[in-house]
Amino acid sequence: MRVRGLTKRYGEQIAVAGIDLELPAGQFIGLVGPNGAGKTTTLSMITGLLRPDAGTVEIGGHDVWRDPVEVKARIGVLPEGLRMFERLSGRELLTYTGRLRGLPGEEVDKRATQLLDVLDLAGSQNKLVIDYSTGMRKKIGLAAALLHNPEVLFLDEPFEGVDPISAQTIRGVLERYTRSGATVVFSSHVMELVESLCDWVAVIAKGRIRAHGPLAEVRGDAPSLQNAFLELVGAGRRLAGQGQNLDWLGGGAR
Ligand code: ATP
Repeated sequence: MRVRGLTKRYGEQIAVAGIDLELPAGQFIGLVGPNGAGKTTTLSMITGLLRPDAGTVEIGGHDVWRDPVEVKARIGVLPEGLRMFERLSGRELLTYTGRLRGLPGEEVDKRATQLLDVLDLAGSQNKLVIDYSTGMRKKIGLAAALLHNPEVLFLDEPFEGVDPISAQTIRGVLERYTRSGATVVFSSHVMELVESLCDWVAVIAKGRIRAHGPLAEVRGDAPSLQNAFLELVGAGRRLAGQGQNLDWLGGGAR
């Protein structure tokens, strides 16, 4: 995947300030950055959900904005705050998604049954999506994104609001998927998670890429990715100064 000069403004605010990136295929890639860094905006532009003001994105040699059908057949997306067809059951949602992707009915049924089973949703497959919990929604969204066996899967904060058991299940599915040669790109601000999952990371802050490359290279000599990250986004100094403020907080005095 090749990103060149990707830019997005909202009025005066520059959300993404000209990103250049080349992401390797067949790897587990983490896009990390603090709140408001531009992760969601970047992923939305890369996956054809948000039109960039400038720049290009190519996936497998196809331009996302000039050749959207070719690209969308090859990718799966789990956006943040995904809106789903709430009045369908989990099973119906997968059937609908699979048919929309042009898969034969029997194949959709087979894949849906397996995905529901692996993601521990078989018992809730007839429940309406509106009645699903946050973790269940993430899992059914993941199943819908994987159903057509995409070459690249994009996930915006896939572990947000997910309990440790479901997180482990999602993780297992993603690890198996990348082992088969597919690529996963996911955004997160949970460094421990990125460190334990990713082969390759890109650090973004204030709409710019601060570092990118294999995990060990970006971490450098720092004891953890968290330390390297704080250094890269310049948060270390800010944190050090914080003790002087909020001196009224705690201690029972009013
Ligand atoms: P988080 O980790 O908190 O989800 P993020 O890295 O995904 O953050 P973005 O959601 O991409 O960050 O936001 C980047 C910047 O663009 C922020 O300053 C945000 O306020 C701004 N922004 C995003 N969407 C809009 C919008 N629709 N209108 C105006 N500003 C926006």
